[in-house]
Amino acid sequence: MTMTITHLGSGSRGNSTLLETPRAKVLIDQGFSGAQLVKRLARLQLTPDDIDCVFLSHHHGDHGGGAKMLQTKWNIPVLANERTALELDLVPEMTTFFEALDLVKVGSDLAVLPVPVPHAGSDNVGFVASYGGERAAIITDLGSWTEELVTHVRGCEHISVEANYDHNRLMHGPYPYSLKDRISGRGGHLSNEQTGRFLAEVCTEATRSITLMHLSEKNNLPHLAESTVLYFIDEVFSGDLRISGQNGPDFSHYIGQESTVVKPNEKVAK
Ligand SMILES: [Zn+2]
Ligand SMILES: [Zn+2]
Repeated sequence: MTMTITHLGSGSRGNSTLLETPRAKVLIDQGFSGAQLVKRLARLQLTPDDIDCVFLSHHHGDHGGGAKMLQTKWNIPVLANERTALELDLVPEMTTFFEALDLVKVGSDLAVLPVPVPHAGSDNVGFVASYGGERAAIITDLGSWTEELVTHVRGCEHISVEANYDHNRLMHGPYPYSLKDRISGRGGHLSNEQTGRFLAEVCTEATRSITLMHLSEKNNLPHLAESTVLYFIDEVFSGDLRISGQNGPDFSHYIGQESTVVKPNEKVAK
């Protein structure tokens, strides 16, 4: 029995991640239009009606812009902190507030822990999902990280984290100074190097897979993100490193115990 982690897409034009256990289907963030969400879920043989609930990290449009529509069009409950819910004007009867560091149980087999992260003009959280004795972290949009975050993410079997920009490309790129400042500041986004340093603090032998998310289309390139991060974690990490682009879903990772080894073309009963 496993929980799969699948990014439906990641970047400044929309983010959403599907967590799927045998008993629950949960989205982390919903920054896509309804049509885009339907299309992306269809590639996994799912529809929005299959989704049990949605957790929101923060209110920025690329993460929460499509949340209220899920409530009004598909009756899907949304979980968010108070600031995020207010900013997005969520439907009160279909919204559950969570507090930072309060574990939220979903059904009988999944638990999700919101952990605060610094990100300008928002009350942003990263999430650590627990299933089958293992943990997956989904963390994006943060200008820096805290000891508290390191404590909760260290040793996770899967880590999805943003690698937003390459420092040189940002500084020599087209953005005006004020925007460069905001992106690289404490309240902005993580550079490839910062992501590498963060991962070096949290990766252990238990960490099997890493996904780099939310790469800037103007200020980053996949091979720069990958090589920079690997430079910092080479000694501790020998698992699967991938990059989630804007047009997913492309791949899934899993946590939890496999009941048996899956061979090609062999279906395992869950
Ligand atoms: Zn974002
Ligand atoms: Zn944001």
